Amino acid sequence: MEGLLDVLDFLDKVEMCLFYYIEWCVKRSVVNAIFGGLGLKKTVKTEFVIDDLKALKIAAKLFSEFYNRKGVFEGYSMPEYVLPRNLKEGTREHALFLTYVISIDYMTDAEKLWRKSRGAYELHPERFTPEEILKVSPRTVETFVRKLGARFGSGAVKTWVAISKVLLDKYDGDPRNITKEPLGIVDMKKRLNDFPYLRGNKLSNFYIRVMGEKGLFKVKNLEELDIPVDKQVARFTIYTGVLKLLDKQFIGCAQDNPLRSLIEGAWRQVAKTLGTAPWKLDEPIWTIGSKLCSERKCGKCPVEDLCDKTKGGTFKENTVIWRKTLD
Ligand code: SF4
Repeated sequence: MEGLLDVLDFLDKVEMCLFYYIEWCVKRSVVNAIFGGLGLKKTVKTEFVIDDLKALKIAAKLFSEFYNRKGVFEGYSMPEYVLPRNLKEGTREHALFLTYVISIDYMTDAEKLWRKSRGAYELHPERFTPEEILKVSPRTVETFVRKLGARFGSGAVKTWVAISKVLLDKYDGDPRNITKEPLGIVDMKKRLNDFPYLRGNKLSNFYIRVMGEKGLFKVKNLEELDIPVDKQVARFTIYTGVLKLLDKQFIGCAQDNPLRSLIEGAWRQVAKTLGTAPWKLDEPIWTIGSKLCSERKCGKCPVEDLCDKTKGGTFKENTVIWRKTLD
């Protein structure tokens, strides 16, 4: 087992190097585009446009279908809201389960991660506690998180250990104590700065949304929380034609600017018009993006009649490679 973990650690490092190399290439191409490759001569920015009316029509339809559980959403629950059978909602254990699983919900198959985590919790609930994580060896934690489906096993161990220490040192081992008193989103995010991965833009919005919706965090202005932008949300926003590319091509991370701000802004504006919170659009949009758009199962889609079915956009991990096509 030790030898196998060493090999997996090595492969993790190779994969992370490749990942950072791709990221570096993307950043370099952006820098080259900005500086024209010949010294600071000209600034080239990729141009996009938001179709507000399309966004509004799509959101209104999705919102109604999702919250009335109609059509493709009938009987559907978001994976993070399906609990292990031995876990009681609203408890410290519930808050810990969500905290640990969300912290490794990065560049992985979310459905699988949550399903495996539920199974693991039903057998070993103690493994999702800070006390146990700090008591056992890092190798034991690594074997465990790898079985759950964490993308980078050795990184996931460091994340779980760091989160456990912060929880025990500052919050009596209970994530609900992060907001003993109600906090605004800005202060909330400052507190999350102590937590690896949970402090990132996508995961912090996702974490606050889930914990806030379940009443495990007291958030003063939850209705102002933006949609957590990940590749599924970006995919949906691009494929539908809510976000259009005006230039010939764009390569960049779905979760970083400029895409993140554009996508957050588009759905924020729509939510305001519909009189709802932006994060409430996350669940239907993420579900369609991951279950239908990813495999172009448009025949089952509730917004097919409103969708542009934009071609030319592909996703390599979280990187969008988007080339404008003629149709
Ligand atoms: S019609 Fe197809 S591409 Fe458009 S949102 Fe639905 S599944 Fe995605």
